[in-house]
Amino acid sequence: MTVVTLDQVERQRARGFRFLRFSPEIEACFRKEYAAERVRLAVIWGIVGTLIYDLVYFGDRTMMADVFSDLVTARFFIFTPFVIGCILAVRRWPNAALYDGLAVAIAVLGVTLPMAVAVHSDSPYLFVYQNGNSAAFLFFVIALRPRFPALLAGLALMCASHFTTTSLTGAFDAVTYSGIITFYVTLSIFLAVSAYFLEQKDRQNFLNQLRGGLLYEQLEHKADRDELSGLLNRRSLSRVRDAVWSGAPTSVAAILLDIDHFKRFNDVHGHIEGDACIRAISQSIHGAADKGAHVFRFGGEEMLVLSVGQSSLQALAQAERIRKAIEALAIPHRGLEDSCVTVSLGVALASPTEVTLERLLQDADAALYEAKRSGRNTVALAPGLVPPLRKDWVAA
Ligand code: GH3
Ligand code: MG
Ligand code: MG
Repeated sequence: MTVVTLDQVERQRARGFRFLRFSPEIEACFRKEYAAERVRLAVIWGIVGTLIYDLVYFGDRTMMADVFSDLVTARFFIFTPFVIGCILAVRRWPNAALYDGLAVAIAVLGVTLPMAVAVHSDSPYLFVYQNGNSAAFLFFVIALRPRFPALLAGLALMCASHFTTTSLTGAFDAVTYSGIITFYVTLSIFLAVSAYFLEQKDRQNFLNQLRGGLLYEQLEHKADRDELSGLLNRRSLSRVRDAVWSGAPTSVAAILLDIDHFKRFNDVHGHIEGDACIRAISQSIHGAADKGAHVFRFGGEEMLVLSVGQSSLQALAQAERIRKAIEALAIPHRGLEDSCVTVSLGVALASPTEVTLERLLQDADAALYEAKRSGRNTVALAPGLVPPLRKDWVAA
């Protein structure tokens, strides 16, 4: 699927689209929505249009008695099945180019069939009869509404067909014939200009809608993120909790992480470097955490990792992986003798059907306290699960 960015949409808005064409990525989205909308309406317009077209049966009987049976064949046995076939085709293959092509084909056939039969008629009502084709022009532009290039091609072909068949009837003198041409050419120009502005409005609306959707997405993303670390923020924790808890998984693991001796880091390196350290550690956690894990900036220099469906061993392995990844960053900590920045982690595990998030976090906090107490740069498991880990513990 084509992905459009807000930047691309803004650039398109600034550039405009005088030739009724967007950049390829946006055009692909527009075509998709256009096809879906037109195909949705195709059944309605197909039925309405064919019904009106076939009702001219009564006009055929009164005005064109000498070729009436041929007109019945044209309307009921050629045009109607063709339209039904077209509707089935666009529903089966909902595609903008196919829709436009078939809309043009229906319009040209609709104009050509009665006039091709009328060529063989001696009816004195031919002038009135040929006027009926103006309804086909209107239906093509207002109801079928193909995209502009197809619309222009359709109008040109309809005019060509109508003028040729009208001339072949031999029923009109030069003045009447040129009057007919003037009428249809004027009608076509008027319809084409209106269609141009209508499509421009459609495209403008589409672009505005696309922009609105992307802005909303961006806003939602920003509202959920912590600006400094790029991790999920505390605000989004309740949303994630609702989603996780309502899914009723077998277990949820919480890993609470706190940077060791960070006050001293700020004192020695300054807050700007402190911020950079938080950023680097956040990225490292994000990279080392399990794929489906939710990683939050829980407090100042405290992070939280929530993982669904893990055993205590898997949660411990994940915590140890994170600890090692941060140790491997080797961020110098001049406040400590000969040392780098490290973190302590507390791991807790619970079944969401039995334990609330608040309780799970309390357990993880207790484990974190234990990790700090036992010398920092280590992982500790909440009491009652399995014995505390040693630093050289290797993930199974
Ligand atoms: P411990 O090993 O026991 O965790 O010691 P500590 O010094 O890290 O103690 P504590 O976790 O209580 O320290 C938190 C410090 O983190 C206090 C504050 O100056 C710092 N901090 C919190 N948020 C930020 C931040 O956004 N940027 C910076 N630079 N520092 C922060
Ligand atoms: Mg802290
Ligand atoms: Mg700390």
